Order: sequence, then structure tokens, then C-alpha cells
Amino acid sequence: MIILMRLDATKEQIDQVCDVIRQHSVEPLVLPGEDRVAIGIPASLSSEQRTDLEAALGSADGVSKVTQTSRPYKLASLEFRPQKTVVKVKGVEIGGGDFVVMGGPCSVESYEQFRGSADIVKKAGATVLRGGAFKPRTSPYAFQGLAEEGLKIIKQVGEETGLVTISEVMSGDMVPLVAKYVDILQIGARSMQNFPLLIEAGRSMKPVFLKRGPSATIDEFLLAAEYVLNQGNNDVILCERGVMPLDRGYTRNTLDLAAVPVLKEFSHLPVIVDPSHGTGVAKYVAPMAKAAIVVGADGVMIEMHPNPKKALSDGSQALTPDQFTALMAELLRLSAYIRT
Ligand code: PEP
Ligand code: MN
Repeated sequence: MIILMRLDATKEQIDQVCDVIRQHSVEPLVLPGEDRVAIGIPASLSSEQRTDLEAALGSADGVSKVTQTSRPYKLASLEFRPQKTVVKVKGVEIGGGDFVVMGGPCSVESYEQFRGSADIVKKAGATVLRGGAFKPRTSPYAFQGLAEEGLKIIKQVGEETGLVTISEVMSGDMVPLVAKYVDILQIGARSMQNFPLLIEAGRSMKPVFLKRGPSATIDEFLLAAEYVLNQGNNDVILCERGVMPLDRGYTRNTLDLAAVPVLKEFSHLPVIVDPSHGTGVAKYVAPMAKAAIVVGADGVMIEMHPNPKKALSDGSQALTPDQFTALMAELLRLSAYIRT
């Protein structure tokens, strides 16, 4: 429910409306707008609560109108927060108008491999360095990542190059450890509905990069974001990385690019596209990355490797240094063109 106050509503009238809402055992959320204040009620209300509140607030002083929100998520919705969220990390703005490229290997394998990747990514013009230290692998026998040693490498390389760093955290109890070493916490597709993890990531107050689960609907995706936002952490970045494919023989996932304009219509959160996991095939990464710009994404996350054939994970979708550099140049040109 959203209560839109009149343009001339006084502070006392706003406080009074908040008091009425609290008397109904729910917390109001004051949402200052450009010209007037709105008051949101993020909690799900019973039909009785809704009717009572509507009756109590409809005639209250200073109220212009009471509307029902149409979606189950609240804090993530554009209805609740009409201003776009810009996540600012060490001078990089995600969602602020510049097209952001996050590049790096799937996994951190050694200092040399990660530093080499960082140098290529930085030289090409990307501003965020990715690399997994804890890897969610389908098989327990596959490379699981370097764990804390990998996090130390990420921190060191981040400091040496000045790049913003991002890495995955797979469980709630690991959040403090990962948060100590990296700038942005990545929540992987497989963990999108790991609710204790979402809550801990929210509490860390670090920016959270939330990947869409392979079978998650838009509502489920935004409700997962809602868990983080509900902890008072507003720095959430959404990532479309492909959903279950119809035909695994050709692509690893189906990159749902239509999700980008949909998310932009219903949410204020920045949206990044991951064409690497979205296709699973290196040669399909460039066209889908370019398409991401055209559909309005705020940036892309792209896997690269100094030597993809030797990669310990996701080598088949990793770009070579030359491919990454060439794509980056095209992306910069295309985004400049689209935005003029
Ligand atoms: C990754 O970014 O390396 C990763 C494991 O991604 P996802 O969670 O989208 O599969
Ligand atoms: Mn990967």
C-alpha cells in the first residue's frame, strides 16, 4: 500500500499518518519524492488490515490518495522508490548512466593468473574485476576454488590495480570473511533463494550483486533482492545470467534479455547482464554483450582468461585477452552511440 501525501502536506500530517499506520501494527516507510512525500507499507497486509487502513487513511488530513501496490516486492519496486538506485563503489557508479564492464576469470587460480587478467581487463577499460574464490560447482570433484587464499589474491590485486573487486559468497556464515577481502559480494544463481545468505549479505552493508536463479521468475528474483533491501542495505545490483535452456546442445542457458526492460520498468535497481554464463560459449558472448547495451542494461559481466584452454573452470566461455580487448572497444563505442 502507498499513501500519497498532498503537495502541501505538513510534517505533522505526515507524522500523524505514520502513527495511524503503526496503530495497525505495521511499520510505515517514508518515501520523500521530488515534490511530495509518499508513505509506503512494505508488509503484506491481511484483507482486514487493508480495509481498516484504507478507511482510516482515506480521510486523514494531508492525504491525496491511497493506492494498492500491484506487486509482491516493495522495497525493490519503482512504485516505492521512484528514483533509480546508483551503487557507488570506490568511484565506480553502477546504474549511474555509464556502461560498466566487469571482467575477469571464472576462478582465481594463482596470483600470476589473476594479476595478468586484471592488467588486461584494466587496460581494455573495464572498472570491475571478477574472480571466484569459492566456486559453486555441479560436481564435488571439480575445482572448488582457492578459498581464503583466493580472497587474499583478490584483495592484493584490487589494491595494486585500483580495480573494484567482486567475488562470490556461498553461505551466510562466510559473509564476514568474503566481505573482509572484496568490494562487492556476489550471490550466485544457485544461491538466489538461500534466504539466510541474503539476510547476512544484507546485514554486511556491502554492495550485493544478485544473480537470477536459472528457473526464477521475475517476482522471485525481485523478492530475493527484497531480502537484502529489507536489512537496510540499498546497494543491490541485479544480474540476468540466463535461465534454463530449451536446448543445452547449443547454449548453456537462455539469456533472458527481455528481463532487462522488464526489471527496469518495475524496479529502480541497476541491471547487469552476464552473457558468459548466459550462453556458455565464448563466440556468443560478444553479440549478446552488445545486445545487452541495446536493451538498456547498466553493464555486463564477462569472463576472460589469459589462456582459456588452461582455465580450471568455465574455459569454454572465457574470452582470450585479445577477444576481451576487442569486445571492450566495441562496447565503449556502442554505448557512447546509444547514449547520444
Ligand atoms: C560465476 O559467476 O562464475 C558463476 C558461478 O555464476 P552463476 O552463479 O551465474 O552460475
Ligand atoms: Mn563461471
